Amino acid sequence: MIDFSISTELAAERDRVRQFVTDKIVPYERDSRLTSHGPTDELRQELVQLAKDAGLLTIQAPEEFGGRGLTHVEQAVLYEAAGWSTLGPVAMNCAAPDEGNMFLLGKVADPEQIQTYLAPVIAGEQRSVFAMTEPDGAGSDPNQLSTSATFDGENFTINGRKWLITGANGAKTWIIMARLAENPHLPAGPTLFLTDGDQQGIVIERTMNTMDRNYVAGHGVVRFDNLTLPKAALLGEAGQALRYAQLRLAPARLTHCMRWLGAAERAQHIAVEHAKTRTAFGRPIGEHEGVSFLLADNEIALHQCRLTIWHACWLMDQGEKARHESSIAKAYVSEELFKVADRCVQVLGGIGISDETVVEMIFRDMRAFRLYDGPTEVHKYAIGKKVLR
Ligand SMILES: Cc1cc2nc3c(=O)[nH]c(=O)nc-3n(C[C@H](O)[C@H](O)[C@H](O)COP(=O)(O)OP(=O)(O)OC[C@H]3O[C@@H](n4cnc5c(N)ncnc54)[C@H](O)[C@@H]3O)c2cc1C
Repeated sequence: MIDFSISTELAAERDRVRQFVTDKIVPYERDSRLTSHGPTDELRQELVQLAKDAGLLTIQAPEEFGGRGLTHVEQAVLYEAAGWSTLGPVAMNCAAPDEGNMFLLGKVADPEQIQTYLAPVIAGEQRSVFAMTEPDGAGSDPNQLSTSATFDGENFTINGRKWLITGANGAKTWIIMARLAENPHLPAGPTLFLTDGDQQGIVIERTMNTMDRNYVAGHGVVRFDNLTLPKAALLGEAGQALRYAQLRLAPARLTHCMRWLGAAERAQHIAVEHAKTRTAFGRPIGEHEGVSFLLADNEIALHQCRLTIWHACWLMDQGEKARHESSIAKAYVSEELFKVADRCVQVLGGIGISDETVVEMIFRDMRAFRLYDGPTEVHKYAIGKKVLR
């Protein structure tokens, strides 16, 4: 039976996270180190220290790695609170792409890889990247993967070009997807590699100028130029990259939904306060039905999104993969929350598009949410295929 009641302890922790984000993190939203390419590493480290001092760093990690081993529903409750500021998840080390990468490494990495590559990310000391998307290859369709890897029995040699790689500049832990060519030693096909960002052969061509700025170091264009890696750099089994990517994506797309739900709630809070105090035509604008309906539509959407997320989380907590439900959640929540942010801009009038409030930043940052971890149309494509089967 589905039971979405929240324990007293979880509710108290949710309130503590919200208070922490409001008191300690929100003031950083006007810090000059929150650049057009996202928060700088210096800012990230300062925020991480605050979360560490508050006992709120990487709380989602499994207990054996020093975290609390949260269930998916618990994550939903706490990430929503963290998302009140787009910097909240950065501070608490539950932002993308690190959060999804930690999850994947926890499932697939061997003990040595965990020590070298996962432990420093959990500690908030290093950042990680997941390098899959390519200008002319993998994107919505990862089967188009064109970055190549060859294996001579001892070393891999990787060549190719990727873009939209979040956090590439300065990240130490690199998960790279490349297509392993036929060879006599290992199964061929899409394969994951794990290595250090300082390796010769990883070339950061540039950081892209994008409309969002909530991800540390922005999004990079990267070239692998005869990147040579030892056999130990194999992450999991050769030829299994697409399976591992799916393993990462189902929970990762839900955690995006959770964090953005928190940001949308913040935008709604600001719009509601504005509607109570700003007057037009003799009364507070909130008393005009046109405005109250916008805010009511937001309230309905926030509630529906929360339930959709919690349902997929609940299924995963029952041991189900919930791929279909997490696809539904990603497609629905990303579209609805963007509409919420848009309506908040509208309620704010002209200042809605200015940085007088954080709503403008939330609106721009949230636009990208409809694209990554599967554009809405790709999720609908998968949902439609299942419906028609
Ligand atoms: C902010 C941001 C951060 C990102 N971070 C990373 C990262 O860290 N690592 C990484 O590897 N990638 C990252 N990406 C890339 C992201 O995963 C891709 O943008 C996404 O998979 C879509 O691929 P594409 O951009 O190549 O679009 P394309 O595959 O070229 O698709 C373009 C459009 O075609 C349509 N479309 C595609 N397939 C279908 C279909 N079956 N049915 C109907 N319509 C369809 C959709 O509307 C889609 O938006 C990031 C993207 C963004 C925006």
